[in-house]
Amino acid sequence: MKAIIIGAGIGGLSTAIALQQKGIDYEIFDAVPENRPVGAGIMLGGNAMTVYERLGIGEAIRKQSIFPENIFIRNYKGKTLQQVSNVYIRQRYGQGAHMIHRAALHHELILATKQPVQWGKKLISIEDTADSVTAYFEDGTSATGDILIGADGIRSLVREQYITHANYRYSGQSCWRAIIPMTLSREEQINGAEVWGNGNGLRSSYMQVNQQQVYFWFTKKMPANTPFSDEAAITFIQKELAVFTGNMRTVAAALKPEMLIRGDLYDFEPIDTWYKGRVVLLGDAAHATTPNLGQGASQAIEDALMLSNCIAQTKNYTDAFRSYQEQRIARVRKVVGISWKLAQITNWKGAIATTIRDMMVRMVPNSITQQQMEFLYNVKW
Ligand SMILES: Cc1cc2nc3c(=O)[nH]c(=O)nc-3n(C[C@H](O)[C@H](O)[C@H](O)COP(=O)(O)OP(=O)(O)OC[C@H]3O[C@@H](n4cnc5c(N)ncnc54)[C@H](O)[C@@H]3O)c2cc1C
Repeated sequence: MKAIIIGAGIGGLSTAIALQQKGIDYEIFDAVPENRPVGAGIMLGGNAMTVYERLGIGEAIRKQSIFPENIFIRNYKGKTLQQVSNVYIRQRYGQGAHMIHRAALHHELILATKQPVQWGKKLISIEDTADSVTAYFEDGTSATGDILIGADGIRSLVREQYITHANYRYSGQSCWRAIIPMTLSREEQINGAEVWGNGNGLRSSYMQVNQQQVYFWFTKKMPANTPFSDEAAITFIQKELAVFTGNMRTVAAALKPEMLIRGDLYDFEPIDTWYKGRVVLLGDAAHATTPNLGQGASQAIEDALMLSNCIAQTKNYTDAFRSYQEQRIARVRKVVGISWKLAQITNWKGAIATTIRDMMVRMVPNSITQQQMEFLYNVKW
């Protein structure tokens, strides 16, 4: 069995590592001309770290990342709305969340793949026949395998051209991210926080991702594609954060235009079909989610292990794809649904609405928080 993987993002690369662990042949392709160390930070949930442990790269990733002992949700006045003990999660489920620079994560994933990524290969069409599947690239080349894995992200061509059409949903929020050269106090390194403002999607966070760099992000409700120069964005962000207590203003003061990565936050309505013929979807291509639970990549990483397990267990690709979808779809739908609701709650506006929102979040019973942890981190398979 040979797999053609389209997309060398976190999902595609994790799939390559999972397949090679099972002795399954693959080739991996990506549209970008070369591997560039881009991107900001990312939180790898305990569930993702459990998968990476099983794939033999847990230790390498832990070494490149920061383990915050606690993760808080606070309001801009400094009041704690929720506290999650990452130490407890690690004790109970084996692994806790790690903060890492995306470039460092990609570097470790690429190091672990035995087949080199073939860069500059933009998929333009697929031919699925009785005996094989062929990917055709923009540069006139092609690649043939037994199956094709579409790990080509939220705007997946594999999905749109070959499997099903997705209805994109704009969360209402635009997001700026940055990596800032900075070392936080130990107290702040071990106690990471997401801070909620006074409604209208206003949220921000900064967390250490390695000894020298801090990952900062900021969201605000606005129409999609609202124009902003990077300079204007910094003025806007600093003005919005002026009322935030603690060090948020100090961190935002260190932003420089060249650090900013901007994106409007989208997901798409859950789709029912992840595969057709010899072609299967994985990661954001199958189930993009808004980043409010910090689970998009973690779910792609879970997909990678599950799909490779299913392919290894049954050499019949249809059975493997069916089993993969059956074992993944309800779980990721729940993640997408919770994330979407969280985005909408943070979009509420006005003092009364946000006071009620903050109270609701503060009063979430421990039993519910515990259930959510069991759901996210208790990876049994
Ligand atoms: C602001 C923000 C913050 C986030 N924070 C977190 C977090 O803290 N934790 C978390 O778990 N998740 C987070 N996520 C989600 C996470 O980034 C995604 O879920 C994850 O990157 C999806 O990985 P993927 O490999 O499926 O897709 P992608 O990362 O999108 O990779 C797709 C790859 O396919 C390639 N490609 C696309 N089209 C083609 C084509 N036609 N031919 C060839 N190659 C192609 C692209 O170049 C790309 O390399 C966040 C997302 C956002 C937007």
